Amino acid sequence: EAKVRSPNSMAIFKGKMRQLVEENAGLEHDLYNAINDNQLFLVYQPIVSTESSRIVAVEALLRWHHPTKGILAPDQFIRMAEQSGTIVEIGRWVVSNALRDLLLMRASHKDLADLRVNVNISVEQFRGDRVDTIVVAALRDNGLTGEALCVEITESSLMKDLNVADDQLQKLRRRGVRVALDDFGTEYSSLAYLRNLPVDCLKIDRSFVEPLGSGMSVADTLVAAIIGIGMGLEMEIVAEGVESSRQLTRLAELGCGEVQGYFYSRPVPAQKLAGLVKKLKDLRAAGVSPE
Ligand code: C2E
Ligand code: MG
Ligand code: MG
Ligand code: MG
Repeated sequence: EAKVRSPNSMAIFKGKMRQLVEENAGLEHDLYNAINDNQLFLVYQPIVSTESSRIVAVEALLRWHHPTKGILAPDQFIRMAEQSGTIVEIGRWVVSNALRDLLLMRASHKDLADLRVNVNISVEQFRGDRVDTIVVAALRDNGLTGEALCVEITESSLMKDLNVADDQLQKLRRRGVRVALDDFGTEYSSLAYLRNLPVDCLKIDRSFVEPLGSGMSVADTLVAAIIGIGMGLEMEIVAEGVESSRQLTRLAELGCGEVQGYFYSRPVPAQKLAGLVKKLKDLRAAGVSPE
C-alpha cells in the first residue's frame, strides 16, 4: 500500500510491513531446513525441436513443498535464497538431482536416450562456490559427460560479475557443457558484448513470443532479428513461453530451432516425461506440428 492518507492507515501500513518482514524471516529459516527435510523437488519442461517435433532437452524448474504454505514457485523464494546465500546449497542440490533424474528419464523411453537437462544458475552461485567444480563432480557421480547438461544464466547475472563467471563457464564448456542466455532480450542485450560471452544458446524471452503472429508485425520483426543475431553468432535459439500453434508455426517459419512452453507441456515430474513422448507422437500424427 503506497498511498498513506491518515495516521490510522499509516499504522495499518506499518503493521503490514512488520508482518511481511517477519513472514520473510520465517520463510528464510524454513528454507534453510527445506533441503534436509526433502521439501524441494524438480519438475521438467520439455524443449522441442521445431524440425523434428521431438523432445531434445528438458529444463529443470525448482519447487518447494512448504509444510504449511503448500507448493511455492521459485519467484517466491529464489531471491531470498540468493540474498541469504542458501542458493549455493540449493544450486548444488539442483544440479545433482537434475542429473540423477536425467538418468531415469533417459532410461524411461528409447526416444529419450540422448536427452539433455538444462538447469538455472544464479550469479550468486558463482560468487559463493566454484560452479565448475560442483558440476564436474555431479557429472562424474552420475557417470555422465558434459554434453548431458546445459546451464542457463540471465544476462544481468552474467554481466554483473563477468570475470568470476567467465572462467568457470569456459571450464565447463571445454567439457561439453552448454551455456544458455536465459530471458534474452529483456536486459542489457549489449550486442557488442554478446559476441565475447561464453554462450552457446539464446533463449528468447516469453514477452517476445507472446504477440507473435497476431498481426502485430513489429513482434515478428523483433523475433526475426533476435534469431538472425543468434544464427550469425552460431548460437542455438530456443523460444520460451510458446502457448499456441500460431506462435509455434511462426517461430518455425522464422528459423527458430527449439521451442518450450505450455503448448507442448507444463513442467512435469521426471516420471511423466515418457508419457509426453507418446503425446507428441500423437500430435505429429495428427499433423499439428509445422514440419
Ligand atoms: P526461467 O528459467 O525463464 O523458466 C521459465 C519459466 O516460465 C518457468 O517458470 C516456467 O514454468 C514458465 N513457463 C514455461 N512455459 C510457459 C508458457 O508457455 N507460458 C507461461 N506463462 N509460462 C511458462 P517457473 O518454474 O515459475 O520459474 C521461474 C524462474 O525461476 C525461472 O525462469 C528461473 O529464472 C528461476 N528458477 C527456476 N528454477 C530454478 C533453479 O533451480 N535455480 C535458480 N537459480 N533459479 C531457478
Ligand atoms: Mg531458465
Ligand atoms: Mg527464461
Ligand atoms: Mg525467467
